[in-house]
Amino acid sequence: MPVHTRTCHICEANCGLLIETEGRRVVSIRGDSDDPISRGHICPKGNAIADLEADPDRLTSPMKRVGEDWVALEWETALAEIGTKFAAIKAAGGAAALYVGNPTAHDFALGMQTGALKKALGVRGVYSASTVDQMPHQLAQYFLYGHNALFPIPDIERTQHL
Ligand code: SF4
Repeated sequence: MPVHTRTCHICEANCGLLIETEGRRVVSIRGDSDDPISRGHICPKGNAIADLEADPDRLTSPMKRVGEDWVALEWETALAEIGTKFAAIKAAGGAAALYVGNPTAHDFALGMQTGALKKALGVRGVYSASTVDQMPHQLAQYFLYGHNALFPIPDIERTQHL
């Protein structure tokens, strides 16, 4: 069975994953011992990606709220409707900001596109989970270790006060 080398982007640790599949089915997920940062370690959320993938309630298409109901749309229809509404918002003076939610905030490709999307839509700001709960964390890392992305891994077993 094929094994895919991937990066978990549920959180900023970005652990290396080895995902074994059979067709579309995820057979197993384990840590990648060759990953230079996580070195084979993952948390239960990394393993649970298989459950998310197989969850019968998982959304597999865009959903539109119509009154009290939610209606599944084709991607082309959804994107066309969103484009029309964004054009109207822009014509009326523009949107205030974009919101990028987790885990997309940890997706490098999406992060690279956020600036272009912001410019295209004419928005003034970008908010994310990071702007709410991560900035103090990252500022502390910057002042303590010299870089905002140097995330310390707690040494729980030798910690005397947490
Ligand atoms: S496996 Fe857990 S700790 Fe690692 S990136 Fe995913 S959510 Fe974060």
